[in-house]
Amino acid sequence: MTAQPDTARDGIPRERDLLLALTRNRQDRFSQIARAGLEALGDAIQIVDSRGEELFANERLRELQKEVDRDQLAELMDADAEATCRSRTEWELDGSGRVLECVTAPLKDSLGARVGRILVLRDLTAERAGERLQDELISIVSHELRTPLVSTLGFTNVLLRDGGLAGETRQAVETIRDETVRVLRIVDNLLHFRRSGDGFSRHPSRFDLSDMIDEQVVIFRTTAVRHDVRFERPEEPLEVEADREWMTQVLTNLLTNAVKYSPAGGTIAIAGERRDGHIRVSVRDEGLGIPEDQRDKVFEKFSRVETPETEEIEGIGLGLALCREILADHEGTIDFESAVGHGSTFWFDLPAA
Ligand code: ADP
Repeated sequence: MTAQPDTARDGIPRERDLLLALTRNRQDRFSQIARAGLEALGDAIQIVDSRGEELFANERLRELQKEVDRDQLAELMDADAEATCRSRTEWELDGSGRVLECVTAPLKDSLGARVGRILVLRDLTAERAGERLQDELISIVSHELRTPLVSTLGFTNVLLRDGGLAGETRQAVETIRDETVRVLRIVDNLLHFRRSGDGFSRHPSRFDLSDMIDEQVVIFRTTAVRHDVRFERPEEPLEVEADREWMTQVLTNLLTNAVKYSPAGGTIAIAGERRDGHIRVSVRDEGLGIPEDQRDKVFEKFSRVETPETEEIEGIGLGLALCREILADHEGTIDFESAVGHGSTFWFDLPAA
């Protein structure tokens, strides 16, 4: 009788071998993909084990090692060697002016034990140079554009007050004034985004927001002739400790928007109240409103709501982004509610003084 192969005994090891080979194959494939991914990223990446021995370095890191002074780079890479959590440092390398950002994080195994760390270096030189250029440009705008605009505004106001103008001439001068105010607001909004240099610091003082609102109401009433701008001054003072100039900028932006985005006119109601520990100022209009699906973007820089009605209305999408930054700088917040075709209410909260 010929011996039959023992399929039960022979089959099991074969299946196990196949499974092992398959798993190994998958692991190889995965590590190939992971490597390709780390190479494809534009950043320089290094992975070291817990003794600091290099396990992986991508091509970009090798290039950087050739381009940058080795000692400086080594110092940069060792700086956070002991960091037990994710850390980020920015370095300006001596001499070359090169700016590198270094992010490092410990690597842990599935049981949470530290097995090494990953280090990511990003070249921020071009980005920082762009920011510097932007700062310089805004500085030029500030000095070369703002000063003549302010005097144009001053002289047109003198002409309107004392010039005895009437009819079309008066209308023409009023248009000059309104357009000057509009451009001045854009310049002022742009100015705030300059991150360094003079004229940008915060000068906090203690004041009653109602006084500031009263002043702005007078100004807006002269220009927003189709709107009924109202403010019922509350009995209690709305005292805050803030930079008055920047707070004026916030209110001006909200009022400008309330006017701009209610082209048919209507009431613009400003209210102020004290609520547990903070002061809330709101500006309500009866204008176009903001569609639900576009609400997320109104506080983003250079972002505008796109509807057929807003297409005709001029703006660059900086006003609300600026308001949000100013308020964040003052530990305040800004928000709104809106109904299309009925109007919007924007409000901001500031800690009470
Ligand atoms: P800009 O008015 O220059 O476009 P803002 O940052 O002030 O920029 O506003 C962003 C967008 O939010 C505007 O383009 C506008 O579509 C919308 N918006 C702001 N305020 C109002 C408002 N009161 N009513 C309706 N839409 C508004």
